[in-house]
Amino acid sequence: MSDSLNILDIKNLTIEYSSDDDVVKAVNNVNIVISKGKTLGLVGETGAGKTTTALSILNLVPEPQGKIISGEVFLAGEDVLSMKEKRLLEVRGDKVAMIFQDPMTSLNPIKTVGEQIAEGIRIHSKLNKKDAAVKAREMLELVGIPGDRILEYPHQFSGGMKQRVVIAIALACKPDLLIADEPTTALDVTIQAQVLKLINELKQSYDMSMLMITHDLGIVAEVCDEVSIMYAGRIIEHGSLEDIFDNKMHPYTKGLFDSLPNIEDRRSELKPIKGLMPDPTNLPSGCAFHPRCDYARPECSVEQPKGKKISDSHYIECHLYNETTENKLGGTNE
Ligand code: SF4
Repeated sequence: MSDSLNILDIKNLTIEYSSDDDVVKAVNNVNIVISKGKTLGLVGETGAGKTTTALSILNLVPEPQGKIISGEVFLAGEDVLSMKEKRLLEVRGDKVAMIFQDPMTSLNPIKTVGEQIAEGIRIHSKLNKKDAAVKAREMLELVGIPGDRILEYPHQFSGGMKQRVVIAIALACKPDLLIADEPTTALDVTIQAQVLKLINELKQSYDMSMLMITHDLGIVAEVCDEVSIMYAGRIIEHGSLEDIFDNKMHPYTKGLFDSLPNIEDRRSELKPIKGLMPDPTNLPSGCAFHPRCDYARPECSVEQPKGKKISDSHYIECHLYNETTENKLGGTNE
């Protein structure tokens, strides 16, 4: 069972990918809760397991290579992983919709944008063709595209406009949860800001919850209420926006912040995290971050750190905090 006030409740989720030779634990014992109207940022480098986690919410982990080994996913109180296919089709779009990084992966090049928006509306509502077309036009206008472009094809739109069309499709059925997977990465900087603003405004006017997957802490600062930091398949730190921005405690979280430009202090030197994300088929023993960590202790290469609550909102997995909740990283790095 799940608390129905939570739009999303992922419990102890573990997902593996296997090939002839290797098994990759892409997601390892992950817990995520998003309550109504809130936005959670899922942050980490490429390969951390963010997208695989998101696909599990739609029960779309690609089979047979991908397999959910254990755990539960509740969407507005309903158990997604045990749903029949018919119910899953209703839920995708109706309760949860996803926006991907590259709009062309979501758009059909041989259908007009109007047909594509109306299609989703007709699947999830009882509207006839004509009324669905009217609603599609409204949705296009809502995302800032003139309604008379409804008969145009995706190739007639710029990258930013295509992403607006994808947003219109995603929001047409007013889902409870919007998953945005790096929604602005493929766009240039000015357009990025516009699309982000649009997502934020629509989220508020529709009173939706959102899972924002990103490696960009600037985006997190702008749209998120809470943040989960993911590394090598695990959530290694979670907290409110304030916990993570003002009192980050995990060495990896600190590394992420140190490696990004700081608009308020242009003189500060950028320090990329040393080393690379580990090979997922051969993760380091103990804490998977230990080969890259400046704070590593002997136990770090042997034992997986247990999760610890620093406060009601702040959680961490790191041996530095076994006996204390005092920040060991020497204050904040704002
Ligand atoms: Fe670094 Fe050890 Fe903490 Fe891992 S557990 S982040 S290696 S100090």
